[in-house]
Amino acid sequence: MTCRKCGYQQEQKFDVCPVCNEVSVKVEEKYKSKLLAGLLGIFLGAYGVHNFYLGFTSKAVIQLLLGIFCLGIGSGIWGLIEGILILTGSISEDAAGNPLKE
Ligand SMILES: [Zn+2]
Repeated sequence: MTCRKCGYQQEQKFDVCPVCNEVSVKVEEKYKSKLLAGLLGIFLGAYGVHNFYLGFTSKAVIQLLLGIFCLGIGSGIWGLIEGILILTGSISEDAAGNPLKE
């Protein structure tokens, strides 16, 4: 995960950044909603809306383009599956590595 303040990165999760002591992870209001992300994936996943919400921007752009040019058929199934994976907890982190809030 990545420190929001100084940009320090390490593989493991940390509650307090070892470089700048920013308490970035424990502030639960910053967590994104699992329910909202899952529903966005199921209903608007064809246009990558759930991935824009979670910060997976490059994947979201691909889905958006697929959604526009293929009328949302393939990317709709992709988004639907990701929405279900989010709701079941198989996808449990946003792009910054923060856990999703229940
Ligand atoms: Zn830091």
